[in-house]
Amino acid sequence: MLESYVVLSRKYRPKVLEDLIGQEILAKSLKSCIDNRKVPHAFLFHGMRGVGKTTTARILSRCLSCVGEHGLTNMTSHPCGNCHSCLAIDRDHHMDVMEFDAASRTGVDDIREIIDSSQYAPILGRFKIYIIDEVHMLSKSAFNALLKTLEEPPQHVKFIFATTELYKVPETVLSRCMTFQLKPVSPNSIAKHLQIIAQKEGYSLDQDASEVIAEESEGSVRDALSIVEQSMMIVSNSKTITSDIVFEMLGRSTNREIENLLHLILSSDSRSALKIVEDLTSKGADPFILYKNIQNCLYKMIVESTNSSENQKNCQSIQNLLYLWQILLKQTENMKNAHNPIQVLSAAVVILSLTASFQNIGDLFIKEEESPEKQILNKVESKFEGITISEIE
Ligand SMILES: [Zn+2]
Repeated sequence: MLESYVVLSRKYRPKVLEDLIGQEILAKSLKSCIDNRKVPHAFLFHGMRGVGKTTTARILSRCLSCVGEHGLTNMTSHPCGNCHSCLAIDRDHHMDVMEFDAASRTGVDDIREIIDSSQYAPILGRFKIYIIDEVHMLSKSAFNALLKTLEEPPQHVKFIFATTELYKVPETVLSRCMTFQLKPVSPNSIAKHLQIIAQKEGYSLDQDASEVIAEESEGSVRDALSIVEQSMMIVSNSKTITSDIVFEMLGRSTNREIENLLHLILSSDSRSALKIVEDLTSKGADPFILYKNIQNCLYKMIVESTNSSENQKNCQSIQNLLYLWQILLKQTENMKNAHNPIQVLSAAVVILSLTASFQNIGDLFIKEEESPEKQILNKVESKFEGITISEIE
């Protein structure tokens, strides 16, 4: 028989509150609700996609439904994982735990179905639990219908709502729920989690690679695991995931390429620097990410120079690097909104290369009545006769 493939995020979905990644406060609050038997009839979890809202909803369902291996335990913050309730929830067919996706079932009739069924006592467990994902997608009439049940719910009913867009949930509904925010998971926590999962799957994941993936996934554990999964398919023979492989897969430039580009900029070799920009963008590198990478690389260089024992001697060069970093920082908005980001990136590379040729960049900022950028442009234009920087952008 063919074994069905289970995606990593599902295979390693946390099953107890303690295993939620990067949501310690939430786990503690829920544990306290259950241990003190102060369980509200409606919970609402909000936060960005992939941070564990529906996973938390399922864990909470287990806590509320677990009966223990001998069928005698009351609700618990440590569900056993082996009783008929826990096992049925794991397999998604517990008769009293119902999950709805409000994105596809938005109408009042769908909610009426829930309301009608909620009147009957649970079949297996002690509660009837309704998990409604993306609850903000319900229509106005659906929310109104739900409101009546939320005001006076039967004792045996619990609602668990999840949403990415809290502000779209009516105040009347919010005020009847205990609301919890799930924070984006920190890159550190994600990177550690990825290392553990890769090891369990028999792969070696470089520290650098796990950090790059964690950064790329912007707080979503699910997105991070999906990148690891794709990387595993690429390296199925060697079973070693390096940062180079991840960079290539994401269409991002490697640290080495960025360092090389920055080195050329700082040596005022704008021609070679532009050639690298052209190569990288033609290989599919996103110009905005490339721009941010140059900025980050420069920042790292400043920090390293500041920490260096020779920083007294380096003072002038640190100041120069700071000025260059400021120029990049000020252009970030232009870069974000540019119609032709490659052109703006190239112009920034030229400006930085030319500015870097000055021994004391601070001298360029002498005229107070003009903006620093304008002063630099004037100086550069006067030094390199025939080049008008303002026309480049
Ligand atoms: Zn159990």
